[in-house]
Amino acid sequence: MSTLTVEGLSVHYGGVRAAHEVSFTVEPGQSLGIIGANGAGKTSTLKAVMGLAPRRATAIRFGEHDLLRAPAHTLVRHGIGYVPEGRHVFPGLSVEKNLLLGAYTRSWKQTPIDEVYELFPVLRDMRGRLAGALSGGQQQMLAVGRAMMCRPKVMLLDEPSMGLSPKLVGDIAAALKKLNADGLAILLVEQNAKLTFDVTTTCLVMENGEIAAGGTSAELSDDPRVRRIYLGL
Ligand code: ATP
Repeated sequence: MSTLTVEGLSVHYGGVRAAHEVSFTVEPGQSLGIIGANGAGKTSTLKAVMGLAPRRATAIRFGEHDLLRAPAHTLVRHGIGYVPEGRHVFPGLSVEKNLLLGAYTRSWKQTPIDEVYELFPVLRDMRGRLAGALSGGQQQMLAVGRAMMCRPKVMLLDEPSMGLSPKLVGDIAAALKKLNADGLAILLVEQNAKLTFDVTTTCLVMENGEIAAGGTSAELSDDPRVRRIYLGL
């Protein structure tokens, strides 16, 4: 069983400080959310964990693997799935080929493609279509499905609700809750606090690149300041 540990993570782009001394852990099977306004540093934090943004950190570990020394492309082999902001599906490839690309570390016969199709039946129906022809919601399902294909132990998701209708946000939430109930640990980074409180049990609030608050998602969703700023209530 592997815990994702992030200690003292800072991200700078030249003179711009995007994240400062961020620390958290994601235990096996846990669902952790990070909410925050536009520009709070959520994407930079996730990218830095993946080795895709300039970073300094005391430690970034997954189980016994030291991710500070692991090149980004090896993280998937350690069991870390990543769903980037903006989906980044391959528009000129079919849905099925996009999924199979997610399994590049595994032999073709062992892929969990049937589990993906069970979770998102619309992807089975559209498996021969070009990914670029899918709606935003279907592309988001494809991005989550592609990350499932390496059988991750933890999945890092960056703003999966972006640009989706409330109905599709609900569908994505249901899928994430199912994956988590089946044992997948989830780190969900979102501007959509309502979705995050729905999907996760524990949550951090990020402001100006720092962790400003944290607690159970139930506690935070009852906090008057959080309700005012992040839920508009
Ligand atoms: P969003 O919800 O809009 O994605 P965020 O909370 O994910 O916001 P980041 O995208 O991590 O925040 O941005 C944090 C800060 O870093 C912002 O001030 C942003 O302008 C800056 N920033 C992000 N990426 C870069 C970059 N490649 N070069 C320079 N500055 C950047």
